[in-house]
Amino acid sequence: MEYLSVAAARRVVLESIAATGAEPVKLEQSLGRVLAEEVRANRDQPPYDISAMDGYALRSTDLTGIPATLEIVEDIKAGDMPSKTLASGQCARIMTGAPMPPGADAVIRVEDTEALAAEALSPSSDETTSHSTKPASGQVAGYLPQAGERDSASLRENLFDRVQINLSVKPGNNIRRLGENMRNGAVVLAPGTEITPGVIGVLATVKRAEVQVYRRARVAILSTGNELEGLDEPVDPNKIPDANSYALMGQVQALGLEPELLGIARDDPEELARYLKRGLEYDVLLVSGGTSVGVHDYVRPTIEALGARMLFWRVAMKPGHPVAFGKAGEKIIFGLPGNPVSSMVCFEEFVVPALRRMMGHARTYRRTIEARMTHNVKHQPGRTEFIRVLLVKEPGGYAASSTGAQGSGMLLSMAKADGLAVLPAECNGLTAGSTVTVQLLDGTVFQDDAGFKE
Ligand code: AMP
Ligand code: MG
Repeated sequence: MEYLSVAAARRVVLESIAATGAEPVKLEQSLGRVLAEEVRANRDQPPYDISAMDGYALRSTDLTGIPATLEIVEDIKAGDMPSKTLASGQCARIMTGAPMPPGADAVIRVEDTEALAAEALSPSSDETTSHSTKPASGQVAGYLPQAGERDSASLRENLFDRVQINLSVKPGNNIRRLGENMRNGAVVLAPGTEITPGVIGVLATVKRAEVQVYRRARVAILSTGNELEGLDEPVDPNKIPDANSYALMGQVQALGLEPELLGIARDDPEELARYLKRGLEYDVLLVSGGTSVGVHDYVRPTIEALGARMLFWRVAMKPGHPVAFGKAGEKIIFGLPGNPVSSMVCFEEFVVPALRRMMGHARTYRRTIEARMTHNVKHQPGRTEFIRVLLVKEPGGYAASSTGAQGSGMLLSMAKADGLAVLPAECNGLTAGSTVTVQLLDGTVFQDDAGFKE
């Protein structure tokens, strides 16, 4: 069989995969899940024109001469409904989120006004009630109440019954319009939307206590090899600790799924068949090791004997070329290389988009950025190469440097990496200072396409 390019192999994978079925989930448990339904607004939001500021609702045409003085006829708090229609020369004190009174066409911020009453009542008093940092300006003729006209309680009540407006405003100023956030019946969220805290806020706004999300894919992980030593086994100097089960576990968990570790199968067709059979009970089976062409690499023939159809087992990439992919009915099988870095890189390139697709995500690919390579990189044309790099922010972008020796067993260099710098198959190597695409290894934000040329 020919070596497939990374892009061609990924196409085979994605074409073989559909999103899992849907299930209901309570809003409280929905974070990180993916919407399997279209969500519509159940009313206009806001339900009426509301004020965007604490201030005064007024008629903008009253502000021809500045400063202007208006009579306060009502106090509208959020949750109140206005009871008066503003006539010329009138305004209403209004709080953020409160409905606009009829007749008003704008709101002025309280910071752009000055209350007049206290000064008006007692010119010698120092209890100035101005909201402004500016000194209170001139009095308004005709407003001063006469001594003895009101008792002190009603004076206090009416302390702010006039306000001086220091700025003119345009119609519509500081008003949030009816339906500005969403119109009744409009689609607000599409299927494939990942449920983030912001999405949860929107769902609560449209009163969805329960939503349909894609079912979580069930993933099994199996390691293979006579040389492997389990995490709970005593240290044997002649054995190789099973790193892959756990590194893959972490990669699956990072996507929001909880995998099942099946353990270690020996390089024995019968034992392997038993384990693989169990693995095929899951939606996705990840097997590492034994997928190459060595005489004891039994994974491919054994899984084929169990009814799986292998769609590819060689990809022109480094690290990681002995990577296999197959289907058994609706079940998906990835045969990942035994070398720990290769296994992890193949997971990134093929399993991440596959699992994201199954989970119903619209965006399946890791985010990529462009970075400046800080050193030369040798590369023989032929295979797409993924180089483990560290990223450092610098003016104008990021600098990428190798995390160290790039052997496919050098797991430490993977542990240190922020991303994988991608060298396209036909590339002849990179010189220091050239721009390279780096696929990020972490993060919860994904993109629509692979983002690199392979
Ligand atoms: P294989 O693909 O089975 O030929 O294995 C390739 C290399 O990866 C060998 O050196 C194995 O010992 C090593 N290897 C295989 N599986 C694991 C694993 N689960 N953890 C760590 N190393 C492994
Ligand atoms: Mg092996």
